Amino acid sequence: MKRHSWESTAEQTIERLQNELLTARYVILHLMPENLHKLLTSYYNCKSREDTYHWENLIAEKLLEYVEIIPYHPVYGRERAYCPLCGEGSDAPYEEGYALPEGLRRHIAGEGNTKKCPVVEQIRHLAVDHWDRMFAEKERLEREESAKVLEARRANETLYIVSPHENSKLIDEIGWGWAPHRDSEQLQWAESRLHELGVKKVVADRVVSYIYEEGELCIYANPIKQKNIEFCAYKMSSKRRAGRSHLCYVLPDRYVNGLRDKFEKYILDAKEKLKILK
Ligand SMILES: [Zn+2]
Repeated sequence: MKRHSWESTAEQTIERLQNELLTARYVILHLMPENLHKLLTSYYNCKSREDTYHWENLIAEKLLEYVEIIPYHPVYGRERAYCPLCGEGSDAPYEEGYALPEGLRRHIAGEGNTKKCPVVEQIRHLAVDHWDRMFAEKERLEREESAKVLEARRANETLYIVSPHENSKLIDEIGWGWAPHRDSEQLQWAESRLHELGVKKVVADRVVSYIYEEGELCIYANPIKQKNIEFCAYKMSSKRRAGRSHLCYVLPDRYVNGLRDKFEKYILDAKEKLKILK
């Protein structure tokens, strides 16, 4: 990109280009017929970050009112239309427009193999700037607030170390989402299972870890998440630091027989894999 004669720094050039890009985006918006202009500026209606996640799908849905359906084609069978915003259609050979409604929706949202609508792509930049102005400050305050809550919890609650390479964590920082943490009764059950396998519960202040040690072999157990107990075996160096290579094993809660044998086989495998002599 050629610099203008009055520009003495790259920053000035970047600033000019940013302004030109902004202008070009507003020009795209203003070139739209009134109904589509209204549809695209609907980003002003988003009242929360959650709303913004649905913005493109809403556009795709509303756009169905403005499409011109291509005369029925016996081979395609389904209703199709070109994108009313950019005029484009499917890249596939012998296909006209986009299948309605899903093909058009993917084009607007930029999903799958479909090329994202270049008009929506550009207007989205305006939308994101607007949303950031609207929501960023509130989100920053929320983040600060939850950091304070977390700090207070970390100062009072039990913390767990489930790997020599990770910091101590609260119970719900380990088990959450699709693998939630155990409640205290379930955790007690898992702890007694570990005890039977010879894994020790090590408590220092409020920090808990579950460890099996044998010479250079050190196994960290993670009984926090529901349904399984996870193990990771490490080789400790002479300075008692764990090496990066490890061998993991998962013991499902539903297993009831031969647990000790299974665990011993895992110990043997770990010794072999991690080249622990003896
Ligand atoms: Zn388009």
